[in-house]
Amino acid sequence: MGAAAFVRLENITKRFGTFTALDRINLDIAEGEFLTIVGPSGSGKSTLIRLLVGIDDVTSGTISLDGTRIDTVPANRRPTCMVFQSLALFPHMTVGQNIEFPLKLRKMAPDARRARALELLRLLRLPESYYAKRITQCSGGERQRVALARALAFDPRIIVFDEPLSALDYRLRKTLEKELKDLHARTGKTFVYITHSLEEAMVMSDRIAIMRAGRFEQIATAEQIYSQPVSRFVASFMGEVNLFDLNGSDWGGLPVKLSPQAQAAVAVPPDWRGAVMVRPELVRFLAPDETADFTLNGRLHAEYALGSRVQYTVQAGDTPVIVERPFEQRLGSRSGDPVRLGWDAGAVHLIAEVAHGTA
Ligand code: ATP
Repeated sequence: MGAAAFVRLENITKRFGTFTALDRINLDIAEGEFLTIVGPSGSGKSTLIRLLVGIDDVTSGTISLDGTRIDTVPANRRPTCMVFQSLALFPHMTVGQNIEFPLKLRKMAPDARRARALELLRLLRLPESYYAKRITQCSGGERQRVALARALAFDPRIIVFDEPLSALDYRLRKTLEKELKDLHARTGKTFVYITHSLEEAMVMSDRIAIMRAGRFEQIATAEQIYSQPVSRFVASFMGEVNLFDLNGSDWGGLPVKLSPQAQAAVAVPPDWRGAVMVRPELVRFLAPDETADFTLNGRLHAEYALGSRVQYTVQAGDTPVIVERPFEQRLGSRSGDPVRLGWDAGAVHLIAEVAHGTA
């Protein structure tokens, strides 16, 4: 970990009785970063951000901000704030009163509060007339913006989001994803965001942290996580993927032929155990005279339309291979037709389970 960390979580453990929800977590967050935490239900995402904002206490480990410990600072005095899925707006109050609420708690004068609320309405691209509107008169998307305005009101240094978009319909979610990303760029604040949706994470974040059973499995950019997952778990978490067991020169029974480049790309020590990953969109249907580093004969099994893309499963030996391509490039073939597949040496990524010499 470098010296430049803005937020640093060091060796954080959180236990509930005998159950360990977080197990010696380390995480550095840069100032102004948009970091998203994803992971299956129960992996510890909410627990982690509850510790960060101070709703809950760590069992052991430290959290620091700009080199100063904050894990001992009470929640109401931490420079953090949280936006929940439920938004937790006060329905009987106006938009203005909601935004001003944290400022009132901090005893800011009414005129200054109002000026700040109007400034925030502009920042969130809501008309000033909304100041006097009741929350109950606002749409879902507008409520979301009001919640964001309130979160920004006292100028926190870190804003933590706990699945704020998960209850919204698809179109509104897509719109708000872009707005949040835009808001992040305009405010330069540090955002820590939790979601179940990897797509959401990929659209918005600078880095993604993937949690599994109370630990980070991988923390990296979306691009790195997508093309260089460190484990089968991360690879599969990123969507459908081909993972072929590699054992010596055996590919789990897959009848694949390798060019010299292909052999070099998957050359592993004799005691190496793991999998070869190939993304479905990097597998091609080959014309009879076409070549590729890896080639394979199989039979078309099924076709699934996925909107702008189409996915095929091809049965080759005992192993199904997934192929994805743009919808415009749909095949004319039918189930059972013979097909030839191919992919390039650059399309493979090796995931070691028992790496040479490190077992
Ligand atoms: P989800 O995506 O479903 O919200 P999560 O990744 O946020 O899940 P957490 O809510 O952090 O998961 O929970 C992590 C684990 O800790 C779970 O097994 C949960 O049951 C447990 N846990 C959380 N809070 C408590 C608590 N107060 N007492 C006991 N166990 C808890």
